[in-house]
Amino acid sequence: MELPCLKDFTLPQLEDWVERIGERRFRARQLFRHIYVRGVTSWSECSDLSKMFRTQLEYGSRLNAMELRESRRSRDGTVKYLFALHDGHCIETVMIPDAPRTTLCLSSQVGCAMGCRFCVTGSLGLKRNLSTAEIVDQVCQVQKHLPTRQKITNLVFMGMGEPLANYEPVVEAISILTDPSGLDFSHRRITLSTVGLVPQLRRLGRESPINLAISLHAPENGLRSRLMPVNKTHSLENLMAACRDYPLAPRKRITFEYILMGGLNDQPLHARQLVSLLAGIRAKVNLIPLNPHEGCPFQQPKEEAVLRFQELVQKAGYTAIIRQSRGADIGAACGQLAAEYQESNPNEGETSPGGKVDGG
Ligand code: SF4
Repeated sequence: MELPCLKDFTLPQLEDWVERIGERRFRARQLFRHIYVRGVTSWSECSDLSKMFRTQLEYGSRLNAMELRESRRSRDGTVKYLFALHDGHCIETVMIPDAPRTTLCLSSQVGCAMGCRFCVTGSLGLKRNLSTAEIVDQVCQVQKHLPTRQKITNLVFMGMGEPLANYEPVVEAISILTDPSGLDFSHRRITLSTVGLVPQLRRLGRESPINLAISLHAPENGLRSRLMPVNKTHSLENLMAACRDYPLAPRKRITFEYILMGGLNDQPLHARQLVSLLAGIRAKVNLIPLNPHEGCPFQQPKEEAVLRFQELVQKAGYTAIIRQSRGADIGAACGQLAAEYQESNPNEGETSPGGKVDGG
């Protein structure tokens, strides 16, 4: 039987676990500090724990949920990390430096069931959900890999997978990452990006005060359903109603991600439709010109179309920022590194041979 990974436990869950193995509950807080503040790699480094307790931890639990296999640095400073999971699957995590911020883009699933047509990861289906520990460990292991003075400041759930389709582990991971006894990330520095699973979106608003980003990519149902099959279940009307009801903190806005695809969704008509959709929502818009990967059926937009689209959204009173994909020279499409690794190690589980274009 697999040993429990301690990064799977929120602090109250760790207190229960510690008690079950015969220790006092306060020991859990000490473990949290060792794991998340000191970043220990072995229990022998924890001299404030009894020898007997350390032996119990050594033989009865795991510290790490996965193994770092490879990292690639882009000319623009972006680093892509490949992690091997215990069952042979691989996931990626991307570190994006943008001084004074260092943002980590987290994966929440191996593959994805949403099938967005501009995203190769999605077209390959879902392999499995990540556990809480596999989400938390992306942060711990990348932080350990960075120079001591470089701290991860922001977290975004925009890597492989749809985070709201793996709701409980994602919310538990957020609770661990924000615990003041551990990594102590502010909720304000965590953003979850979703295609819009409406019931889970409403639940998230009640349960976790993090920032919200919506992967919109089309301003009307027909086009959106063609690009993103999830729209057939959760229509734009229902999604936008959930966004209107979303309990935003003062001065907070919902980010709408919009990948501009040449001739498809980048025309002035689309910009005007987008603006009407956003009515009544405190919103800002990220415009991402498509950077097509091999086999992608869509085109890169013309620069004039991108600028005209931005101007129309801005004229309507919304902040609209053009964001370029980072790390093109190391395989910007999410899933690419995992796929290459899998191709050269075919017996180590299955992963998608490709990747998504941008945050899901
Ligand atoms: S864009 Fe996101 S939600 Fe859509 S298929 Fe890709 S990973 Fe899944």
